[in-house]
Amino acid sequence: MDKAEESGSFQDVKVQDITVCPGCDTVIALGPIDVPIGSQVVCPRCKYRVRTPKKDTVNRTLALSVTGLLFFFPAHFMLLLQFEALGLFDHGTVFDTMISVYQQKYFFVALMVLMTAILIPLAKLVLLFLVSLGISRHQFKNQLPRLFRWYSHLEEWGMTEVYLIGILVTIIKMAGTADISYEIGFICFIGLSFAIVGCVFSIDRDYYWKMIGKLNGSERQVMPDKQFPPLEVRAMQSALKAGLVQCHTCHKVMRYYEPNEGFELRCPRCESTVHKRKTNSISTTWALVLTAILFSFPANILPIMEVDFLGTPEKSTIMDGIIYFFQTGSYGIGIVILTASILVPLFKIIGLTLLLYSIHFNRWSRLTHKSIMFRFIEFIGRWSMLDIFVIALLCALVDFGFFTRIIAAPAATFFTFVVLATMFAAISFDPRLMWDLTATRDVMNKE
Ligand SMILES: [Zn+2]
Ligand SMILES: [Zn+2]
Repeated sequence: MDKAEESGSFQDVKVQDITVCPGCDTVIALGPIDVPIGSQVVCPRCKYRVRTPKKDTVNRTLALSVTGLLFFFPAHFMLLLQFEALGLFDHGTVFDTMISVYQQKYFFVALMVLMTAILIPLAKLVLLFLVSLGISRHQFKNQLPRLFRWYSHLEEWGMTEVYLIGILVTIIKMAGTADISYEIGFICFIGLSFAIVGCVFSIDRDYYWKMIGKLNGSERQVMPDKQFPPLEVRAMQSALKAGLVQCHTCHKVMRYYEPNEGFELRCPRCESTVHKRKTNSISTTWALVLTAILFSFPANILPIMEVDFLGTPEKSTIMDGIIYFFQTGSYGIGIVILTASILVPLFKIIGLTLLLYSIHFNRWSRLTHKSIMFRFIEFIGRWSMLDIFVIALLCALVDFGFFTRIIAAPAATFFTFVVLATMFAAISFDPRLMWDLTATRDVMNKE
């Protein structure tokens, strides 16, 4: 990297060798970079981890995805837990938690539980298995880009780990009032969660895309340079200013040209449509943040859960639930729910508003901090689903007929909307727009 910086502008640089930071669009290196396993390349500007090579990534990910698939069906369809209180029993599977919310007519919440806890984790494992197998056996060459692209888009929507924490919260919550027996589904769910988290740590996306590019021939396929003026690019420059564009999905760098009307610029490696920046990023993110703010009111004011005890319903809001934990001395769990249900959504809304504001008013200070904050917002987004999973688990597992039962209440739907809106807001926000402000400033300073 230093070498590239010292040498300044290169005339004979090959586009496919240039490394660009996906977080801030800065050209990091002009030639191929060889990163040994155990080290990483971090963007000097926005601190994005541009390369993190993993040891034996394809075989490990393949083994872990097979392990996950083996655990998947028993984890979701075999008994998870059994609760016993005053001689009454109730038990259920992970699948039952979705069904019980559905039967209580919270269709949207049930759909989200079905998608994020069951279908998407399954799809992720199947896709990862097929792609890893394809790369290691040189199979399905033409399908690999599509399969791995789907995996990349689904990645954050599979929430098995969040669900596991939900199960643990439910166990702690019920420990004082019911006898709990752990069934085979519980053991398998822990196994599944470890396999899925293992995949996250073992997969090296850059290596996967490079291999997919080699297999489908797009890595060698160079765009005809003749129609472009000679490439003039310096390290630490904005890639867009140098006439380069990076694919949002697979991070391939290519020459940018304005496509003819009715046509789109397509990435030769992953076949996604390539845009200079995410389309309508600012207005879409604003709209989604405002939607999240609007839904936050009913989500926090209305009851989210109802406990029927001997026919007397007692409704509680998110905050009531948290206060209950603190009053009964379960501080740890109180803090977990407070963080997931109140602090995380609040942080996401305030954080994204701040980022949008800084672009709107051309504030280019502390961009590194803002970039780190944005990646933190992206990372924590899915953890707000925790409370929804706990409610779904309680609905399925605490149904002792007339004696006592737990049912969902309207805020559950509104809270799910808040989680969805903030997650989509983070997806639609393009952090490179913040760094574009510095490029404008540099131009203005020169003038
Ligand atoms: Zn960067
Ligand atoms: Zn691509």
